[in-house]
Amino acid sequence: MAAATATPSTTLSKPSSLPFNHTRAFPKTLPIFPSPPRPAVKPLFLVSSKNPLSDVLPVQRAEDSAWEDEKPREECGVVGIYGDPEASRLCYLALHALQHRGQEGAGIVTVHDNVLQSVTGVGLVSDVFNQSKLDQLPGSLAIGHVRYSTAGQSMLKNVQPFVAGYRFGSVGVAHNGNLVNYRTLRSNLEDSGSIFNTTSDTEVVLHLIATSKHRPFILRIVDACEKLKGAYSIVFVTEDKLVAVRDPFGFRPLVMGRRSNGAVVFASETCALDLIEATYEREVFPGEVLVVDKNGVQSLCLMSHPQPKQCIFEHIYFALPNSVVFGRSVYESRRRFGEILASESPVDCDVVIAVPDSGVVAALGYAAKAGVPFQQGLIRSHYVGRTFIEPSQKIRDFGVKLKLSPVRAVLEGKRVVVVDDSIVRGTTSSKIVRLLKEAGAKEVHMRIASPPIIGSCYYGVDTPSSEELISNRMSVEEIRDFIGSDSLAFLPFDSLKKLLGSDSPNFCYACFSGNYPVEPTELKVKRVGDFVDDGLNGSLESIGGGWVQANRNQIKVGS
Ligand code: SF4
Repeated sequence: MAAATATPSTTLSKPSSLPFNHTRAFPKTLPIFPSPPRPAVKPLFLVSSKNPLSDVLPVQRAEDSAWEDEKPREECGVVGIYGDPEASRLCYLALHALQHRGQEGAGIVTVHDNVLQSVTGVGLVSDVFNQSKLDQLPGSLAIGHVRYSTAGQSMLKNVQPFVAGYRFGSVGVAHNGNLVNYRTLRSNLEDSGSIFNTTSDTEVVLHLIATSKHRPFILRIVDACEKLKGAYSIVFVTEDKLVAVRDPFGFRPLVMGRRSNGAVVFASETCALDLIEATYEREVFPGEVLVVDKNGVQSLCLMSHPQPKQCIFEHIYFALPNSVVFGRSVYESRRRFGEILASESPVDCDVVIAVPDSGVVAALGYAAKAGVPFQQGLIRSHYVGRTFIEPSQKIRDFGVKLKLSPVRAVLEGKRVVVVDDSIVRGTTSSKIVRLLKEAGAKEVHMRIASPPIIGSCYYGVDTPSSEELISNRMSVEEIRDFIGSDSLAFLPFDSLKKLLGSDSPNFCYACFSGNYPVEPTELKVKRVGDFVDDGLNGSLESIGGGWVQANRNQIKVGS
């Protein structure tokens, strides 16, 4: 193996600074945000929800489920728009752009005549919304959410945004992330008389706002957020304000942009801004609270100022390559990951292919650096959902074959490098290697554009328990043997950190290192088998189900 040549990239965009030089208007003396008079007789919010699956027979999940079920699951996507008469339609389009971050549910809340109106549903954005649903959502102020359930069961009442009325008005909330002190907060609130309607960690935020003693309303949000621990990028909507908050560690992304008519837009990724022709302005900084109303945009910040710990997995897998996340181009990051693999783990080969879609950019980087052609050796079907009818006779690797088709003309007789973004349990990788060999590949060399995953995520990414992670149980050589490839190499952890340069300390690497920046005090991990694998473990129904205590010895705190 060649020596590493990784140096801080000059091609990556400059890391964003993480300043706190914006106005700190906390403590609570703000003479701002006088509430406008509200009509006394109007309901505070209207809700319309429908589960599109309820019209049909219960859907059986095939045991041999989709191949990407082994991947860590995206968390959620949020969007907020202030000051555009087409707010709900823009929200709907932005949610389409964020659909890769969650496919189990979607919702939009708008404000019209000081009333919050909500439409939510189970399924894809296109399942939930149609013309008449969007017609029910007038107004120039809106928030939206696409959901993958990382906490709370996957059911309609857990689909966000949530809307709640409290003594002085109503508020809607859409949350991306996972709170590590959810159970403590919830039980404290329940002890004080709060009644919960969902199993989502986001609901505690609403209760904390409702029970806060602070005035004006914006300081209730600040007060509530300061009680949260863990990952949260949240947009709130009230009768007259849009509020965006990012947790002090900045685990999950949140960006701000502006449309040419002056409308302010917040979104989880810049790809959503691009779609609705909003110009990217900047990130919402870790620990920042941005308030948008008729007076403009005001920046406050939370009390805690730790070193940021932004999720590196956004660059490895979750975000779309056309997004800029944490001030960096995701495409450039992935291309460099591939180049590093080619430099540090070269192998004689005839062709470089990718496991589509998330391995494609790294494979392009590998091929360019190695001087070997990149070809499409695996074709992905984009039309297979998570449910399908199994053949009556068991076909080996059925789920993977349904999603990925090998191209014999590219593979036959060739020494193939196949690049994937990560290995979780290893079962899908073994099926891919087998597919490639059955299609005639002479040699299969697996290259992984991330370090080995050894720990679960507690900050909003659905990973299996650490016992199920193959890199937690086996050496690289043992994994190679298990998946049946001729060679296997991961992106070296040190090279990843070198690539990030001086920005490296601002990233979370806990799933690669086991060093958790925020102690997961409640130590929740899913039961073995609860994570939906590629047909070998668990069932989709069990997502978000029971939790068991993790082994405290697995948890290290600190960077
Ligand atoms: S543990 Fe891994 S997936 Fe979770 S926030 Fe940290 S880097 Fe991201």
